[in-house]
Amino acid sequence: MSTLNRRQFLKASAGLAAVSAVGMPYLSHADSKGGHVVIIGGGAGGTIVAKYLRKADPSIQVTLVEKNADYYTCFMSNEVLGGDRTIDSLKFGYDALAKQGVEIVTEEATAIDPTAKTVTTSGGKTLKYDRLVVSPGISLVYEGIEGYSKEVAEKIPHAWKAGAQTTLLRGQLEAMKDGGVVIVTSPPNPYRCPPGPYERVSQIAHYLKKHKPKSKVLLLDAKDSFPKQGLFIQGWTKLYGYGTDKSLIQWLPAAEQGKVVRVDASDMSVYAGDLEDKHTADVINVIPPQKAGKIAIDSGLTDATGWCPVDKRTFESTLHKDVYVIGDAAITEMPKSAYSANSQAKVCVAAIVTSLQGKEMIEPSYVNTCYSIVGEDYGISVAAIFKYKEGALASVEGAGGVTPSDASADHLRREVLYAHSWFKNITVDMFS
Ligand SMILES: Cc1cc2nc3c(=O)[nH]c(=O)nc-3n(C[C@H](O)[C@H](O)[C@H](O)COP(=O)(O)OP(=O)(O)OC[C@H]3O[C@@H](n4cnc5c(N)ncnc54)[C@H](O)[C@@H]3O)c2cc1C
Repeated sequence: MSTLNRRQFLKASAGLAAVSAVGMPYLSHADSKGGHVVIIGGGAGGTIVAKYLRKADPSIQVTLVEKNADYYTCFMSNEVLGGDRTIDSLKFGYDALAKQGVEIVTEEATAIDPTAKTVTTSGGKTLKYDRLVVSPGISLVYEGIEGYSKEVAEKIPHAWKAGAQTTLLRGQLEAMKDGGVVIVTSPPNPYRCPPGPYERVSQIAHYLKKHKPKSKVLLLDAKDSFPKQGLFIQGWTKLYGYGTDKSLIQWLPAAEQGKVVRVDASDMSVYAGDLEDKHTADVINVIPPQKAGKIAIDSGLTDATGWCPVDKRTFESTLHKDVYVIGDAAITEMPKSAYSANSQAKVCVAAIVTSLQGKEMIEPSYVNTCYSIVGEDYGISVAAIFKYKEGALASVEGAGGVTPSDASADHLRREVLYAHSWFKNITVDMFS
């Protein structure tokens, strides 16, 4: 499973080299033979669409609208919290995409007009498109937890969008006394990176074990189960004494009053469950409920669930023609991960190129692998291949799987190496 994944990524990244900064002139209208594709969001999905559209058909004009000059990957950001990685190692820029002929607009997309087929930006630009790709990631539903807000997140970070929030949470962990309590709250489904909160708790325990062994991390969960649960618990038992009085980790599922309903930043407390049990802590990390990125909601691309329905064979919105939604914002059977976004982006490129050229769309397949680093020399993973079948993405039986529960110490150590290799390859794919 891991070998297959590495091979795919090595293939995808082969021959790609980092290039220097080159700017592109601003063009507001489609004037190329191949048509104009505008992309909103330069993350795991949007960068891949931009790059592979240019590769597939250089006559297509490609404009990427991204509000930030730098992108900080969420993937591997838990390692920053664990102390094994710097925040700078997560930082990437758009120069190489510009060099490949992608027009970069460093502004926020503020409106989409699907009738006029235009995107308006915070800098006052109006971009006319033939096809639009929307990959804005998530928005955080602060109001889903009473007492939580964007302002409170400056004291009680979410760190679910990497960058300053990650640095803030890391600083709080470093400043905490030994013997302190850290609370992490895990949101209801669906949300970005389903194993992410559990990897986070693992990485915090990894840090505490080394530097503050009298401390503990309490995981308050809105759910009763989570991905790779058996493997995580096995790792926690082995590394952090899970299930004993001395455990560095305590997990309270929803059935045990774990679902957070309210926070109070004034006395650093969290209220959970129907009975509103009060828990206080030195450091609190609230991961709030989530929806599709704001621009998708504001433009009528979401349904009652708060996420974007799409034709899963092409990723074209079922609500607006010639608009495609990929990545976390889209409703699919795939987990909301960077690897899913990468795979969906490549299918979306094929759909756009074939539609612009008046050709038949190919039969796509989709892939996801997700690594979690549980502790020192201890990694686990899950992989799946998906095929389009009767309107849904069905995982292909016998393809993929999870780390075996009787994996050797060497196998678990290698999973960490594969995780780091995966990170290198996916970021090269996005930014080189
Ligand atoms: C702690 C953590 C760990 C994770 N670990 C993994 C992992 O190990 N493996 C994995 O595969 N995935 C992982 N993920 C999930 C992964 O980060 C997301 O699934 C992935 O980034 C989704 O890609 P996207 O393109 O949908 O959104 P993003 O990558 O978030 O990109 C969205 C981009 O759109 C921009 N944007 C939004 N709105 C606008 C607008 N209106 N105008 C202009 N720009 C806009 C944003 O600035 C952002 O750059 C992790 C996530 C977290 C939080």
